[in-house]
Amino acid sequence: MDIVILDLEWNGSYSKKVHHYVNEIIEFGAVKVDNELNIKDTFSMLVKPEIGKKLSSHIASLTHIDNDELFKKGESFKTATEKFTEFAKNSIILTWGTSDILTLMDNYNYYTGDSEIPFLKYYCNLQEYCEYELGAHNPASQLGLQNCADMLNIKSDEQDLHRAYTDAILSLKCLKMVYDKGKFKKYIYKADDEFYNKVTFKNKQITDINNPLVDRSQLYFICDDCQIRAEQLTHFKVKNKNFVAKFRCPKCRKQFNGRISMRLKFDGITIKKKTFLNEPPKLSDD
Ligand SMILES: [Zn+2]
Repeated sequence: MDIVILDLEWNGSYSKKVHHYVNEIIEFGAVKVDNELNIKDTFSMLVKPEIGKKLSSHIASLTHIDNDELFKKGESFKTATEKFTEFAKNSIILTWGTSDILTLMDNYNYYTGDSEIPFLKYYCNLQEYCEYELGAHNPASQLGLQNCADMLNIKSDEQDLHRAYTDAILSLKCLKMVYDKGKFKKYIYKADDEFYNKVTFKNKQITDINNPLVDRSQLYFICDDCQIRAEQLTHFKVKNKNFVAKFRCPKCRKQFNGRISMRLKFDGITIKKKTFLNEPPKLSDD
């Protein structure tokens, strides 16, 4: 199977029809490679926005796409996706992060009513693959394409950044540096119902300690010095979306605040714990 690395540019516009902002795709850029990563074909196309009448100044300066050129030469979303489907059919689609996939879903939904992406049969999140290969996976912060290129010492011309085609090529350069045919296979997903559920799932912080998803057996702390379980002195309170309570070590008598963050993700709940030392407890007579 061929691999198609896709990158999109979009422009946010308010739609009176659906009463919210839509990130209208304004450019498709892609490169098709075989499974040895040799380039077979390329794709680049401007898409004329239908909701927005003008590029936002932010997008215009980020992409250097010329407003007049876009409206004169851009194809309709329907034509662009038909041509891209022809280009990408029977290929594994790669994007850097899932925001391009979510934007495609939104645009198909808006323009054609499709809730899925017709040309998407197999998918790989190149960002996820590079993060794991580079040991840079951090659920709290995603690796940007430019940062990844910097880590891999890939030179890129600032001028060319943030155009769909040049970003697709930069993604390919990153892929080449970490590519291992055997390992890569594990990052390919079939674009089935579970895939769509996962990609549209919104992570959220659990802020109600009585939520049935909260595993109460996890609500404890260990003294950093003595490695034994601390006594809980106060009930958990919610502070900045985290659970916080006071603890005391039964051995060294050290008091500290224990903070627990619980984040609900598609795969389950992620728990993070951190301790903060208190001011020494005030002496009192009672
Ligand atoms: Zn202790």
